[in-house]
Amino acid sequence: MGVLYYWRPDNYARDRQFGFGLHLNQNSPRLRDLKPGDHVWAFTRRRTDGFYVLAADLVAIATTTNRPNYRYGRYRVWADPDRSRYFDIDRAPDFEPVLRRLSIQADARVLAQAFQGLAAVRPITPADEELLMRASLYPPTLQVAGIYPEDLFEAALLFGPERARQLRVMDESDERYRGRHEYLYATVDRTRSSLLVEHLHQLYNGRCQVCRIDPGRRYGVPLAQGHHLIWLSMGGDDVLENLALLCPNHHHAVHRARAAFDYEGLVFRFPNGLQEPLRLNLHLPVA
Ligand SMILES: [Zn+2]
Ligand SMILES: [Zn+2]
Repeated sequence: MGVLYYWRPDNYARDRQFGFGLHLNQNSPRLRDLKPGDHVWAFTRRRTDGFYVLAADLVAIATTTNRPNYRYGRYRVWADPDRSRYFDIDRAPDFEPVLRRLSIQADARVLAQAFQGLAAVRPITPADEELLMRASLYPPTLQVAGIYPEDLFEAALLFGPERARQLRVMDESDERYRGRHEYLYATVDRTRSSLLVEHLHQLYNGRCQVCRIDPGRRYGVPLAQGHHLIWLSMGGDDVLENLALLCPNHHHAVHRARAAFDYEGLVFRFPNGLQEPLRLNLHLPVA
């Protein structure tokens, strides 16, 4: 069954500015219990008039544990890009009457106070879900979830800024593009990124951490690639604990299938149910 989540207005504003990443990180173990297909309903408080509004309906494809001490929380939900919706909160109706009808105990006079800390994520009943489904018919959805094509972004980091021109998301305004671009490049350092990948090449002798094969050995050139386990476009860090060395086949498969990475067991979870563990690991911390 799904959960209801209170998206703090300051966090909502930041996430919206830099592009919604189709994921949610929280410390609440409720997140870990979600199954593929379960809904994460998110509401927030609109700053202009103080109304509570429905902000998102994320449909889980996987839940994973983040690496130890990850700053945005212990657990992560990866949302299905085809079935999840972000609502236009500026044009959404007052959500409070729906909230008051849910089974969730939210007695506080100021509702936000009932959703502090771990209580920000609440389990819901099938009856709650029906109410939420009906409520979600009214707010218009935002057309662009706004995430970068991860493979292009990683390529730009390794091959140079000229590739960055391709990073522009279609239909994106100049201003939005510049803001997001600056944000992403402020969080990563191209020199450091290639040094880290170089370090992994030496550590693993150029071998893929999934299949243990060095794809470039036969040709005498390094072919394995650095992959950011939590994607940069989804808030991942450009640090060693967020990088793995993969052969081009496995790297491509992970991106194309949008496989989620779980630090618990160090395993990629593919949407078709396949679990592909890292069979080589000398540098990643286990959750
Ligand atoms: Zn491989
Ligand atoms: Zn990658």
